[in-house]
Amino acid sequence: MIKQIMLMRRMVMTARNMKASCLFSTMKGRNESVINNSSTIKEKVDCVVIGAGVVGLAIARQLSVKNGRDVLVLEAASTFGTGTSSRNSEVVHAGIYYPTNSLKARFCVRGREMLYGYCKEHEIPYKKIGKLIVATGSSEIPKLNVLMNQGLQNGVDGLKMMESCEAKILEPELQCVKALLSSASGIVDTHSLMLSLLGEAETHGTSFSYNTIVTGGYLKENHIHLHISGTKDLENWDGRSSLHPELILIPRLVVNAAGLSAPVLAKRFSGINCRAIPGSYYARGSYFTLTNIKAPPFKRLIYPIPEDGGLGVHVTLDLNGQVKFGPDVEWIDGIDDIASFLNKFNYSVCADRANQFYSEIKKYYPDLKDGSLEPSYAGIRPKLSGPGQGSVDFVIQGEETHGTPGLVNLLGIESPGLTSSMAIAEYIAARFLK
Ligand SMILES: Cc1cc2nc3c(=O)[nH]c(=O)nc-3n(C[C@H](O)[C@H](O)[C@H](O)COP(=O)(O)OP(=O)(O)OC[C@H]3O[C@@H](n4cnc5c(N)ncnc54)[C@H](O)[C@@H]3O)c2cc1C
Repeated sequence: MIKQIMLMRRMVMTARNMKASCLFSTMKGRNESVINNSSTIKEKVDCVVIGAGVVGLAIARQLSVKNGRDVLVLEAASTFGTGTSSRNSEVVHAGIYYPTNSLKARFCVRGREMLYGYCKEHEIPYKKIGKLIVATGSSEIPKLNVLMNQGLQNGVDGLKMMESCEAKILEPELQCVKALLSSASGIVDTHSLMLSLLGEAETHGTSFSYNTIVTGGYLKENHIHLHISGTKDLENWDGRSSLHPELILIPRLVVNAAGLSAPVLAKRFSGINCRAIPGSYYARGSYFTLTNIKAPPFKRLIYPIPEDGGLGVHVTLDLNGQVKFGPDVEWIDGIDDIASFLNKFNYSVCADRANQFYSEIKKYYPDLKDGSLEPSYAGIRPKLSGPGQGSVDFVIQGEETHGTPGLVNLLGIESPGLTSSMAIAEYIAARFLK
């Protein structure tokens, strides 16, 4: 067994030297006979991060660069950032919408500062273009006032309430009765951000193992044991035979940053207090691109008053000046655990949804031409509450909540998760590294 562990350790070291490595296939390829002839290989490691989305990457960077820890990132897909992190609005939120002192409010405000600072330092494309939240009828004005007060309480600076004529000077195409300007809001190139976080983490010794899925685990002698399988094996799994892990990792700390799959994965750790794990709900958000335009109609982000489940069909601009509208809210059913780890969610955009978009958008952009919207892409929000149940805060759980030492679950990391990512990472290190 010691020989096996030494071999595994060497492979971890090898993987560390391989860019975009696949630790699992490396281990499997070299160790076939060991795996077949004896019980599953076990390997002790320092920190494991499950999921290489923007949150997992920020955590890996924090733990390795800032805290000098030995980190292994396990990612089911063949590369980083293919989940929700590449299917969002790429907006750096100011921190207006969330209840005072909630994790969303705190992380969004702190994360925004950290993100802008990081982007500046690392030359990641971003623009603080500002945003207008608009009331399109007088009945919405009280809601705008509530948002302004909430933002001020959350410590958001650069907020200004505007009359319709002032807003129209900034954005001539805009129709509204009042608007709340947030000059701290902006946009960021998420892919460049993730690439930079990954590069820094890797330079500081973090290993990345793609095509590698954590299917569950158990607690033994007060240490969490993770079941690891190759993505290919799960793709070929018949769904009836029992799933044998091909490797067991025993980390000191494991952060479950599996995004949409995080709650279902948490429930697969045997011995965990399942009642502490909230139920999962999923809300797809579709985007439509504005076509046949000479120039973007807006220079800033334009948001309506938030709706149940989302922030409303808004105008987002990317750094190339392309205009998108979305995301709407469409509650969808969950899928089974393994399909979820394989990211088999339905991301298709139904062209018919455009009908609803036109009426929503024309409330604040009356000149929108019929036939100008084309289906673009969709993202799915990892929700912890269902339709009509109101918004729920991010959930970050350690042993005191779920009873499993060494395990941290990040649940319901929906918007503003991108903006908050670096603040979440900072918090994880401060709270869970001993
Ligand atoms: C439509 C939409 C718009 C949004 N707009 C914004 C915005 O403008 N601004 C903002 O701040 N936030 C926004 N968000 C939120 C933001 O995108 C997310 O909070 C953030 O991307 C979450 O990152 P993550 O790393 O937690 O999850 P993900 O990016 O989903 O990463 C999780 C990773 O875990 C992997 N994984 C899953 N299961 C396993 C397993 N068992 N083993 C190994 N790996 C596994 C997945 O393959 C995936 O790569 C938006 C979200 C949506 C859906």
